[in-house]
Amino acid sequence: MRRLAIALAALCSCSLLGAVGAFASTGGDMTVRERLGRLAEVRVSVDDKLMNARQLKLVRELVAAARYMDEIFLRQVYADNVRLRDRLARSKASRPILYDYFLVNFGPFDRLSHDEPFVRGVGAKPAGANFYPEDMTKEEFSIWLERNPVDREAFESNFTVIRRREGRLVAVPYSEEYRDYLVPAAKKLRRAAGLTKNASLRRFLKSRAQSLITNDYFSSDVDWVRLKDHDIEVVIGPYEVYEDGLFGYKASFEAFVTRVDPSESRRLAKVVEYLDELERNLPIPDKHKGRGRSLRSPIVVAQLIYSAGDTKAGVQTLAFNLPNDERVRRQEGSKKVMLKNVQRAKFDKILVPIAQRVLAAEEAGDVDFEAFFAHTLLHEVSHGIGPGEIGRRGRKTTVSRELKDLYSIVEECKADVLGVYNAIYLVGEGLYPESFMGSAWPTYLAGLFRSVRFGTGEAHGGANAIQFNYLREKGGISYDRKTHLFSVDEGRIEKAVRDLAREVLMIEAKGDYAAAKRFVKRYRKVPKELKDALAKLVDVPVDIRPKYAYK
Ligand code: ZN
Repeated sequence: MRRLAIALAALCSCSLLGAVGAFASTGGDMTVRERLGRLAEVRVSVDDKLMNARQLKLVRELVAAARYMDEIFLRQVYADNVRLRDRLARSKASRPILYDYFLVNFGPFDRLSHDEPFVRGVGAKPAGANFYPEDMTKEEFSIWLERNPVDREAFESNFTVIRRREGRLVAVPYSEEYRDYLVPAAKKLRRAAGLTKNASLRRFLKSRAQSLITNDYFSSDVDWVRLKDHDIEVVIGPYEVYEDGLFGYKASFEAFVTRVDPSESRRLAKVVEYLDELERNLPIPDKHKGRGRSLRSPIVVAQLIYSAGDTKAGVQTLAFNLPNDERVRRQEGSKKVMLKNVQRAKFDKILVPIAQRVLAAEEAGDVDFEAFFAHTLLHEVSHGIGPGEIGRRGRKTTVSRELKDLYSIVEECKADVLGVYNAIYLVGEGLYPESFMGSAWPTYLAGLFRSVRFGTGEAHGGANAIQFNYLREKGGISYDRKTHLFSVDEGRIEKAVRDLAREVLMIEAKGDYAAAKRFVKRYRKVPKELKDALAKLVDVPVDIRPKYAYK
């Protein structure tokens, strides 16, 4: 899913809070207890008021279906996983932490530390996970396809595994390899279909059940994008290919069972009505505005009830954009789902402790979840405004084509800074209360530290370092040299944000790669005061470990 985690083709993986780059090097001689300690355990649940008896029944069927995805993904990660899990389960009483950490990672490899094995006797993780024979090399695969070109489509399919049978490589469809789990999962989906009154959801659940059996996911992907006025948002099936480190062909099974958040969805719909006005309000000359862009993908705000498989392993997803199938994206577009209660959990366990350590006391007290969520939402919305298709030297081109490798960092910086810039405008329009900016500023400032913590090499971390340094230079952020704490200078921050927004937008409007390079070079750095602040955060959790109310 282009989980923010991350990749989100042209979309933002940001909300994913995903990347753990900076932490990934700290495995080494950590004990399993220390490894597990980086994740704050937290109960993830949904407002009871949002679920009536019928929905609860429906959700139980979906969770039951999702649990089969856990079983399949366990088998996709490592050939020896089931035996290892059973062994660790037997010794659970004496070594509960080892068992727990195995479950967190869906295997004996530490996803937060470069896949280091943490179970004694286990070697390095196979690059192709369990999608290919462990002893198969890339060369063998390529030579096989040269000699057997008719196999290419099946071998490179997202939905087959490669096995060795009687000395030959064969492609086995997921529907066959994981049949024992897919057949009962499909049955649960069909039962769930009988429990909803929403025709689009019923249609999707039935067609997805069919996909699990036929191995053809196209039409059910289409049905998913077409879900409308539905109360339960569910994703189930093979999606991301990150686990396949050999070729990136093979998709991992996962599931999200969520409840659409009605009040947030209403607010979002209102914000989307303002897109044109927000475009007109951008701090750049009119000739660079209003190219008729719109949200690249609809956004749904939901509360997570249960997640399974790939997405549950390691770092927890905050938002995702699906489907990945380019044919569906061209035909139907894609859809972004933001998981508000997961954001809440990360806010409580990660952002609040960060604020308490690096912000002046009064400011830290003003850090607020609604402001944090609004900023994430407005960040996503802001990806949809500003220059996209541009003219350069008399020809038509796009910002991303011109800014090349610097595009993501510039675009993430734009979305972040417009996230606050647009909030000011929407407060003026009454969409957020008068007092909103009082908490929005310190929340935004704390968020900069959170992201830089993930390393400045990655687009989001880099973009946040740029904002920090720019706003600091312009006096929008002040620093107390005695207490070593930061605060927002309310007299200067608004202008500094406006200037930064203009600078980034003009780089994009002109498609000026040289200017982008100078800008990134100047501001993407970690000065001593920032480094000292980050050093105070080493024991703040890296991520959360969700405990679901519905199991
Ligand atoms: Zn983004």
